[in-house]
Amino acid sequence: MTALKKVKENLFLVIVALAYIAMFIINPVMGTESIKNSGYYIKEMLFIMPVIFVLTALLDMWIPKEKIMRYLGKDAGFKGVFLSFVVGSVSAGPIYAAFPMCLMLRKKGASIRNIIIILSSWAVIKVPMLLNEAKFLGPKFMAIRWVLTVLAILIFSWISAKIIKDEDLPVESPAKAGLHINRDACMGCTICAKAYPELFEMQGKKSVVKAYDKQNLNLENLQRVIGDCPVHAIEYSEE
Ligand code: SF4
Repeated sequence: MTALKKVKENLFLVIVALAYIAMFIINPVMGTESIKNSGYYIKEMLFIMPVIFVLTALLDMWIPKEKIMRYLGKDAGFKGVFLSFVVGSVSAGPIYAAFPMCLMLRKKGASIRNIIIILSSWAVIKVPMLLNEAKFLGPKFMAIRWVLTVLAILIFSWISAKIIKDEDLPVESPAKAGLHINRDACMGCTICAKAYPELFEMQGKKSVVKAYDKQNLNLENLQRVIGDCPVHAIEYSEE
């Protein structure tokens, strides 16, 4: 019973192991080659992924949520689409490095469409790849493929964003309207409570938002406090 449970929990790994065994039985040379290739990619991933996780954590700390929402969120419009193409096209590293980065962007409010554009351009229109393509296959080939690929990404990202809903992703919907404090991140420095005591107060070692009337919010003061919070724990979006 326990063994069956373990198999169910690791179904994907079991299927891969069975595929290797089948390959060894049918064609031992192909089986050996597959193991060698898999070993190569696992080594490459072990080398690259720690760097990616550190970079993602740093970007997560440095880029405030409201900036991501403004530039890559649902309401970012053409600006968001353009920036997503730029981010995906200038990024370095293999496509699997893009996934933790996109998860972080999504958590901070990037729209599903823009995430798809980043992933797609990361995979097929990276700038260094375009230069190599032009060198080997000619500039005309590269230019036509680039234009048509961009058009395809625009169309398919739009369609995908209509089909994929927020709840389909394994992250909380970032578009929680209103004023919130990320209590896990708050380090209790009291900056917000001192700078805007009508809105924030300290309870124990954490800041909390007092009851407030949206009409009376001093947005300028609020934005200043959001920018001053050293750990970007204060989140605000229009209701
Ligand atoms: S400024 Fe940020 S870290 Fe400091 S108390 Fe307020 S929410 Fe917490």
